[in-house]
Amino acid sequence: MLANSLIELDRAHLVHPVASWRGHEKAGVRMLTSAKGATVTDAAGQTLIDGFAGLWCVNAGYGQDSVIEAATRQLRDLPYATGYFGLGSEPPIRLAARLADHAPGDLDHVYFTLGGSDAVDSTVRFARYYWNARGLPQKDQFLSLEQGYHGSSTVGAGLTALPVFHAGFGLPMDWQHKIPSHYTYRNPAGSNPAAVTAASVAQLRAKVAEVGGPDRVAAFYAEPIQGSGGVLVPPAGWMKAMRDVCTELDILFIADEVITGFGRTGPMFACTEDGIVPDMLTCAKGLTSGYVPMGAVILSDRMYQVIADHAGAAAIGHGFTYSAHPVSAAVGLAVLDLYEGGLLDNGRRMGARLQAGLAGLADHPLVGDVRGRGMLAAVELVTDKALKTPLPAAALPAQRIFDRAWNNGLVIRAFGNGVLGYAPPLCCTEAEIDAIVERTRMTLDQTLEDADVRAALR
Ligand code: PLP
Repeated sequence: MLANSLIELDRAHLVHPVASWRGHEKAGVRMLTSAKGATVTDAAGQTLIDGFAGLWCVNAGYGQDSVIEAATRQLRDLPYATGYFGLGSEPPIRLAARLADHAPGDLDHVYFTLGGSDAVDSTVRFARYYWNARGLPQKDQFLSLEQGYHGSSTVGAGLTALPVFHAGFGLPMDWQHKIPSHYTYRNPAGSNPAAVTAASVAQLRAKVAEVGGPDRVAAFYAEPIQGSGGVLVPPAGWMKAMRDVCTELDILFIADEVITGFGRTGPMFACTEDGIVPDMLTCAKGLTSGYVPMGAVILSDRMYQVIADHAGAAAIGHGFTYSAHPVSAAVGLAVLDLYEGGLLDNGRRMGARLQAGLAGLADHPLVGDVRGRGMLAAVELVTDKALKTPLPAAALPAQRIFDRAWNNGLVIRAFGNGVLGYAPPLCCTEAEIDAIVERTRMTLDQTLEDADVRAALR
């Protein structure tokens, strides 16, 4: 009864992110009521394994007492402190220092935001300021990858390459340009890692030339693994090769680690596995494990000193009311304690089990590709393995598979083109990882019984 009235209130008043508003009115909200560890419980009382950690963010798992206690303590002691006017509070200072410790190379200076989108926005502001400070204001063109996702603010959505974030919004802006993704499974250069990397390097160089040469290009953005584009893993050495081109051409390299940070792929930051030091690194999600909002830009000392020297005594005009929020930072510290205290290790073990388990689905008639690293993975469905034919759009693969997995007790991300995404909490047990794989197999077997899918199968 209560649930039904909430569904009506939701329909009437709550606008949902990245949704068909009419479609949502029709379908109604599916409500979650509680969560613990790697599981969530819905309003019908069903408990499911959250194979997507909310929105790839609850890395530490739900209901961690130490996190709840840290937030409660901070709410009681000092629920808010601005960083303006030279003021501050302890948690963000300590969190900044610990992040600088974990981040590679000279990524030493942390600017806290409210999430990933405004972290990406902040990098654009810092990049522009930096090039102005270096006397090169004409370096004002920004490059990113097809299939990339960099947030939903106007600037971030323009760097994003997913068409749904552009259509009707007047995006991208004329200073935002894309090069093809490495997308190994469907790369015209073939699946050979060296060929894929060489193609990307050539495409980056060509795009730089096309927009006016290195003197015009401010920055290049890359996710260590493209998340919202379908969990696209670049070949080993790809990040390093792209970083090297940027260094050679004096273009800032920005690693967007909003998804890949905080143990998602194994280490604290994925770019350490790639052996690179970006000029700026963005993070969010696992930073607070989704318990409260927070993101960050970690700036290299090289950039920081140029900006600071140039501004001298003048204020650098970038800040939010909630920059360096003490409650979010207190949560961040408690979550870091968990990561350092064994959760990253567990995530690495469970990640290996997840990758092996999903790889075991490769012989399923609907599975074209299985890919991922650590606790980040995808299964790409096709109806013809040789031709790599996606599931027919008319079969509404995303909604149907999402619903079916849900009924099987598993939350996954089902991308529109029939790619299944996985990003379970790092606290998963072996039994939960095995259940994720088994419930996926069950979901695929059921999908194989659909008349339209069967008809398309080759
Ligand atoms: N960058 C990447 C790589 C992301 O995956 C996301 C969100 O999924 C963002 C930026 C935007 O973060 P937020 O949704 O916290 O604004």
